[in-house]
Amino acid sequence: VAKDLGRNRYQFYAPEMNMRGLDRLTLESDLHRAIERNELFLMYQPQLDLNTGNVVGLEALVRWQHPSRGLISPGQFIPIAEICGLITPVGNWVLESACHQHVRWVSQGLIKGTMAVNISAHQFRQADFCDRVSDVLLRTGLEPDLLELEVTESVVMHGIDQVLHKLNVLRGLGVTLAIDDFGTGYSSLSYLKQFPLHRLKIDQSFTCGLPADLESSAIAEAIIQMGHSLGLDVLAEGIETRAQVTNLQSLGCDAGQGFLYARPLSVEECGDYLLAAVGDRR
Ligand code: C2E
Ligand code: MG
Ligand code: MG
Ligand code: MG
Repeated sequence: VAKDLGRNRYQFYAPEMNMRGLDRLTLESDLHRAIERNELFLMYQPQLDLNTGNVVGLEALVRWQHPSRGLISPGQFIPIAEICGLITPVGNWVLESACHQHVRWVSQGLIKGTMAVNISAHQFRQADFCDRVSDVLLRTGLEPDLLELEVTESVVMHGIDQVLHKLNVLRGLGVTLAIDDFGTGYSSLSYLKQFPLHRLKIDQSFTCGLPADLESSAIAEAIIQMGHSLGLDVLAEGIETRAQVTNLQSLGCDAGQGFLYARPLSVEECGDYLLAAVGDRR
C-alpha cells in the first residue's frame, strides 16, 4: 500500500482514519469524471399499494460502477458528493435520467404511478433547485404529478421559512413531496401540518422490527395514524416478509416497498417487471 501512495503521501499511511481520508480523496477526484464517463446508473424499486398489490410508483436509486473498484453504493459516495460539492451535478443527473426513463415507461403504458427521486440536503438548499426541477420537467415532458421528490426530516426541519417557501413553489409546479426515513429524525408536528406533503415513508428500521418488536410496532402505528390524520399517504420501506405486510395492512398502511416485492431493478429488469404487472391487471 505504501508504494501505491507514493513518497509524499506517507502521512496517510498508518491509521485507519487517514486511510479513509485518502479513500475519500481518490473517490472524490474519480467522482468528478464519473458523470461524463457514464459510470453512474439508476436502479428502480417498485412501490406497491398494500391493499390491491398494484404498482403505484418506482423509486430511483443511484449506483456508481467504478472502473477499478467495482460497484459503489450511494451510502458510500453520496455523502462524499455532498462534502465536495459534487452533489449538484450528481443530483441533477439523477433527476434528469429518472424523469427521462419514466416518460418512456409511462408512454409505453407500463406504469401510471410516480417516479420518486431522492434529494439530498445540499441539493435541496441550492437557490436554483426549484428552477432545476422545472427545467427537467420541461425538457423531459414528464407530467409534474408523476414526479415525487423524497427529502428527509432533517432537510425540511431547518430554516423553516425558506423550506416552506420552496416546498410551496415545488407544489406549485405540480410535483409531489415525500418525507423519507420518517421517524429517524426530529419533526415538528406543527410544521408537518403546514408543509404541502403527500407522503410519509416509514423508515426500514421500524419495518424491520415488525410484527414482533413492540416498540417498532407502536412507532409504525403512530406514524400511520398521524400521517392519515394529516391527510398524508403512508408507505413502509424495507418490507421483507409476509408477516410484515399483514401487520402493516392491519395498521392501515397504504403502500410499501421492499425486497419481498422486488429488489432495486435495472432498467431492463424493471421494464419486464412492469410489463408482467400490467399483464396481471388485465
Ligand atoms: P432510501 O432512499 O431510504 O432508500 C432505501 C434503501 O433501502 C435503498 O438502499 C434500497 O436498496 C434499500 N432497500 C429497499 N428495500 C429493502 C429491503 O427490503 N430490505 C433492506 N435491508 N433494504 C432495502 P440504497 O439503494 O443503497 O440507497 C441508500 C440510500 O442512499 C437511500 O436511502 C438514499 O438516502 C440514498 N440515495 C440513493 N439514491 C440516491 C440519489 O439518487 N440521490 C440521493 N441524494 N440519495 C440517494
Ligand atoms: Mg428514498
Ligand atoms: Mg428511506
Ligand atoms: Mg434510508
